[in-house]
Amino acid sequence: MKNTILLLLSFLLLGTACKVNPVTGKKDFLVMGTEREKALGASYDPQVEASMGFYDDAKLQRFIDEKGQQMARISHRPNLGFQFKIVDSPVVNAFAVPGGYVYFTRGIMAHFNNEAEFAGVLGHEIGHVTARHSAKQMRNQTLSQVGLIAGAIAFPRQFGQFGEMAQQGLGLLLLKNGRDDESQSDKLGVQYSTKVGYDAVEMANFFRTIDRISAGSGQEIPTFLSTHPDPLDREEKVKQMARKRQAKAPAGQQFQVNRDSYLRMIDGLLYGKDPKQGFIENNNFYHPVLEFQFPIPNGWQTANSPQQFQMGAPDGKAVAFLMLAQEGSLQEAARAALTNNQLTLKQQENIRVNGMNAIAMRSAKPNELEVLTYVIQDGNRIYKLHGLSTPQDFSRYFNTFKQIFDNFDKLTDPSKLNKQPERVKIETVKSNTTLQNALTGFGMPRARLNELAILNGMELNDRVTAGMLIKTVR
Ligand SMILES: [Zn+2]
Repeated sequence: MKNTILLLLSFLLLGTACKVNPVTGKKDFLVMGTEREKALGASYDPQVEASMGFYDDAKLQRFIDEKGQQMARISHRPNLGFQFKIVDSPVVNAFAVPGGYVYFTRGIMAHFNNEAEFAGVLGHEIGHVTARHSAKQMRNQTLSQVGLIAGAIAFPRQFGQFGEMAQQGLGLLLLKNGRDDESQSDKLGVQYSTKVGYDAVEMANFFRTIDRISAGSGQEIPTFLSTHPDPLDREEKVKQMARKRQAKAPAGQQFQVNRDSYLRMIDGLLYGKDPKQGFIENNNFYHPVLEFQFPIPNGWQTANSPQQFQMGAPDGKAVAFLMLAQEGSLQEAARAALTNNQLTLKQQENIRVNGMNAIAMRSAKPNELEVLTYVIQDGNRIYKLHGLSTPQDFSRYFNTFKQIFDNFDKLTDPSKLNKQPERVKIETVKSNTTLQNALTGFGMPRARLNELAILNGMELNDRVTAGMLIKTVR
């Protein structure tokens, strides 16, 4: 990861030039050249995979690729070499990085209710790339911002220097675009999706879904809306732009919505968190694939990725990480934990943790960090657990770190090991009724009706008709 920062810095320092913006036709100062932009995107792509993983669904992948390439061809940068991917995250989001890499989460794919909604967001994200928003934005990042971590954990700046443990790349990827950039991308989204024949009014409707998600369950707000307090205002603007563009189309042109084909395509899509990636229940983290568990202190915030599990104290002054070691033995893993992070060893002892061989270490980066590390061997897997705090705060957190690490244990509870994910199931409505009655008829519990109404892009008292397709979860 350290290398990534250096690589990125070299891009930032060297990649400055004066370029004509493909969308505005005006000159942008200090924007990187296309080759550099592509190289930067290519360096981020593996980091996106490491932090979220790609979602494996050939049919869905083929769909976004086909639609993405079709739209890229009519965009302002048809020859950039766009790539479109689905990341394995339940959060409703889409994002783009420089060089034409566009990502949709499986969470947003589950929430679209037709192809036209998808096409609008696709156009919006392609717009960020063609108008060089992210390229401009990355140019403006300072070193301190590069070191910050993404996600909900309050992460003190000095921890960002802790080599392998920080996810600098992700932090940059999820940077917010400015209000003007968002407006411009909305406009491009309408333009591009109309041009390939979709009804961009549907894109406007999707803002309502977004508004309900962020208002309702406290789910994370999608990046592409996060700088906008009022998605409904945006909905209105997009609707107007869409109608204006459609009015200019040749008489009789039909704009596609494609609801049924979209819904059939996402039948079976994973919905919500995938327990296989690890899950939290009753203040414990369980990993059914790696078969381990450990406790989470009360009030601590957590972030889980395929690369590592992180948690942070409520006051932001301590963090703990768990990750799989790459090294072949406990001793090697312990040594690497020190050298990779330029830590000075203070104390080391061989211990047993719930029957497993382990090494416990105290180490430090003078005047910056104090660290408690456990390296634990379970069969042929070796785990590294790190607890970090500043020299001033470390003693306050030492017992908490120790309590987490000493309770690291094998997971044997079958109910945890076999926990199954939920999937979207498309059902055909049997008779004319309300959405609420239809959902109840398919056995959906009362407590989830609001969530399912949002998932369907409808209100519970909306009418549904016999033969209509709706989403349920199973
Ligand atoms: Zn955006």
